[in-house]
Amino acid sequence: MSTPKILYILSCRHVMPGAIGAQQLVCYNCDMPKLVVDVHTWEWRMVCSNCNYSPWCGLSQMTANHHADVHARKRQHKTGVRYLENPYGVKVQQRMQEGTDNAGTASSNGNK
Ligand SMILES: [Zn+2]
Ligand SMILES: [Zn+2]
Repeated sequence: MSTPKILYILSCRHVMPGAIGAQQLVCYNCDMPKLVVDVHTWEWRMVCSNCNYSPWCGLSQMTANHHADVHARKRQHKTGVRYLENPYGVKVQQRMQEGTDNAGTASSNGNK
């Protein structure tokens, strides 16, 4: 089992996939490291009605459609594609919003 990846919104507003807990990622569009500022929680997902195979496919509906086609043909399963909120992404976003960083700067004029 590999670590699930989620989608991050970087300081340049581009969206990049990264491991949970990432603070900085190299943006493929800008070709340089950018700070993570938010999480993009919505992703395309292939879902199968016959088994548990349901990979997250990021921002690409085409990738999800492709997975659905291949899986349906190989296994004779009934597949579909949906745009869903990734629960891993939601959790990371909540943690970031409660985040120590912003709270720290907001109350920097004296503790207690
Ligand atoms: Zn960028
Ligand atoms: Zn299946």
